This record gives sequence, structure tokens and C-alpha cells, in this order.
Amino acid sequence: MWKYDPKSANADEFINHEEIMDTLAYADSHKADTVLLREILDKAKERKGLSHREASVLLACEDGEINEEIYRLAKQMKEDFYGNRIVLFAPLYLSNYCVNGCTYCPYHAVNKHMPRKKLTREQVRQEVIALQDMGHKRLAIEAGEDPVHNPIEYILECINTIYGIHHKNGAIRRVNVNIAATTVENYRKLKEAEIGTYILFQETYHKESYLELHPTGPKHDYNYHTEAMDRAMAGGIDDVGCGVLFGLDKYRYEFAGLLMHAEHLESVFGVGPHTISVPRLRDADDIDSGTFTNGIDDDTFAKIVACIRIAVPYTGMIVSTRENQKTREKVLQLGISQISGGSRTSVGGYVAPEPEDLRSEQFDVMDNRTLDEVVCWLMELGYVPSFCTACYRQGRTGDRFMSLCKSGEIQNCCHPNALMTLKEYLMDYASPHTKIIGDALIQAELKNIPKEQVRNIVVNHLSEIEAGQRDFRF
Ligand code: SF4
Ligand code: SF4
Repeated sequence: MWKYDPKSANADEFINHEEIMDTLAYADSHKADTVLLREILDKAKERKGLSHREASVLLACEDGEINEEIYRLAKQMKEDFYGNRIVLFAPLYLSNYCVNGCTYCPYHAVNKHMPRKKLTREQVRQEVIALQDMGHKRLAIEAGEDPVHNPIEYILECINTIYGIHHKNGAIRRVNVNIAATTVENYRKLKEAEIGTYILFQETYHKESYLELHPTGPKHDYNYHTEAMDRAMAGGIDDVGCGVLFGLDKYRYEFAGLLMHAEHLESVFGVGPHTISVPRLRDADDIDSGTFTNGIDDDTFAKIVACIRIAVPYTGMIVSTRENQKTREKVLQLGISQISGGSRTSVGGYVAPEPEDLRSEQFDVMDNRTLDEVVCWLMELGYVPSFCTACYRQGRTGDRFMSLCKSGEIQNCCHPNALMTLKEYLMDYASPHTKIIGDALIQAELKNIPKEQVRNIVVNHLSEIEAGQRDFRF
């Protein structure tokens, strides 16, 4: 039997099944212990985070009053650390060739009727121009695992192509990468290609389920997959993005595993995940989410978001268009700091809609609004949409980034950058209605820049953006 050790390099030890089962039993036996629950909440208020065990007790709690306190604290921490800014991004699917057998994804190799597509360099260019013309500055590229069709050289060439395209005033300034677990050497190459975050979802931390859900292909190797972030960090990538696919196994198990993964990275590398994503399983081509028995309802989903926010206050949280407008609205206040907008989850979907018989979506999008509609909606809710990509371009990554987060200093960059990148969006891409709302919002938000000197710089840059200059950042 493996023993729990957050510092171990072995997945069976840092995501230890017995420790998770013990944690869940502890959470069950203490979920009505209001003294302990309040102690945990008091600790959370110190904003230094919670252990997987403490956070699991909060997640298990069924007391309405305590749950309200959890939500209140999550909202407060969201406001304190992230203000009212929401960073926007879009996925870009490069290829749906895949040799794996993931039972929940329509790109699995057993799907013989889905058209397999892989973008050529010219098609990447066209997709990126379409994304730039929407106003996007930050992408997450996605590709199935296929050593023949999608080797690392192909991914690197795509990244290089994406960064090289400057259509009108457009530019993709940060490319995050979501590709299969790979070698330290390949991670080093991704780092050299100047990626932002390396994202890899664990899917499920429950090893036995993992092996069943990934019956064939290299992804079947649970340990190789689970230890991928360690190799990414060994390769020099210090911003990594974790996540599980809620619906595959029991959510409380996944939640504990996710936090143990964060604790492992923190204890070995001194920095936890840069982001955590919270996707829920959705229908897709040959995938019927109803056949998976661990789906979670909207209230549970909101509780998970709130508990993650409290447990890892400095980790950004991402919600995609797997969620509809109503759910996104609810979880934005509880801790989400990044959302996608105007997304297409098919290969080549931004240039033109796919014919019905040639569709290649990875999942059904639940929020089909345009980016402009999403930007306008955010502002009407009181948020500042941000297209900021400044940190990794300024060398603020890994522990350097985290220490700025923990001291709160990062806010001095985030807020001005949000206003300046929003201004660029309004000048170049917004509808007249969005522009009116956005310009008024920027004027109002300038007052919230505490330092006069910084405020004056931003005011100057806003004028320069009006005059045609671009890409100012702190
Ligand atoms: S989840 Fe990823 S690895 Fe699995 S089938 Fe889909 S694209 Fe392939
Ligand atoms: S300044 Fe850094 S942390 Fe803040 S929004 Fe920009 S990239 Fe993100």
C-alpha cells in the first residue's frame, strides 16, 4: 500500500487514495460540527488557504447558515483578490486526431464517423484572424493526442504562427496550451515557444475509474498523466493549469484530489497551480452525458466553486462555455476570474460554421453568445472585462507572480491593464452600444486606481489608444 506524501514524485503517494477516503470519512463525521466548521471558516478568513481536509469538511457541510457564510466569504475573497475584473479568452482547436480512448470525449479513436481535421498553417492563420477580429488577445490551444498527426513540432509551429499574425490592430499576446501529457524535453520546447500556461485536466483523480474511463491509448497510464505537471515544471513551465471533469467520479473525491494536487505542487515547487478549471461533462457527438452517473447539479457546482475559492485564494479559476449564461453569472461572483467568450469547440469553427454532416465539436456549447454580447453582459453586471496578458510578458510567472498575488500588489497591475485593454477592445471591435457602456465604465473605474501617478499614466495611455497606439501594460 502507498503512503500519503505530498512531496513524493509518485502520483500514488501525492494523490493517495487512502488519504482521500480518510478525508471523506473525516468530512462526513464532522460536517455538522459547527464549532469545527467555524474554526475552519476563521482560518479561511486569514486568506492563507485551507488544506484538502479542511476544505472537504466545508464542502460536505449541509448547514444552511454555514453554507451562506461560505458563499459570503468566497464572494468577499473574490472581490479582495480579483476585484471586479474578468479576464477573457477563447479556445482554438487545432486538431481532433486522437489515439486515445477516453469514454467521455467524442474525439476518442473509436469514433469512426466524426470527420478528423487538422488545421494547416494557412487555416491556423485564418482562424487566428477571425479570433483577432472578434477582439481576442488570449487563446488556449487544444489538440488531441496523436504522435503522427499532432507531434510536438506541429504544436510548436502553430504557436509560432499564432504569435506572428498581426491583422489590423489584432494580436494574440498569450497562447496557453492544452495538450496531452508529454516529456520534460517537450515541455522545455513549449517554454521556449513562450507559452503562457500549460493546461492539463486530470479528468478524474480516482485511479480505478481513470483506468476504466481511459481504456486505450497512452493516456491510459494514470501515473504518467498525473505526474505531468511535475515534468512541465521540471521543463521550466512554472504556470500550470489543473482541473477535473466533474461528472466522471464522485465530486467530493475529485475536489479532495484537486486540492492535494495543488498542495503537492506547492510543497515541491513552491508554487501551486496558476489556474483551476471546473468543466462539467456535456453531451457531444457520440457522448450522452446521461449515461454517466456522477453528474452534479448547479447548486453543488456553485458550492465547489466557492470552496475552491476559499481553499486556494491565489489560484485563478476558469469557467468555459460548457456552462450556460445563468450558471456563469452565478459562479462569477463566487470565485471565477476567467471565462471564454464567443467560443467554437470545433476544428476550424471560427472561420465558417461546419456543415451538419461534418461537425467536429468536442462538446455542445451552452453559451452561444458573441464575444461582444459577453463583454456587454459582463459590464452590465458590474464587471470589467479584461483582455490583459501582461504578466508572463513582463516575466511575472511562477513564484514571482504568486508573491505579488499574496501581497496584493498584483492589483496595481491588473486593474489599469484591464482598463487599457478594454479600451483597445472598445476602439477596435465593440458594437456602438457596448462602446458607450464601456467608455462610461472606464471613466468610473479610473477613480478606483488608488495611486495618482498610476492614474495619470493610464489616462495618458487611454488618449494614446484613442490616437491609434496599442499594447500598453504595467
Ligand atoms: S479527451 Fe483528449 S485525449 Fe481524450 S479522446 Fe478527447 S482529445 Fe483525445
Ligand atoms: S496583470 Fe497579470 S494577473 Fe493581472 S490580469 Fe494581467 S496577466 Fe492577469
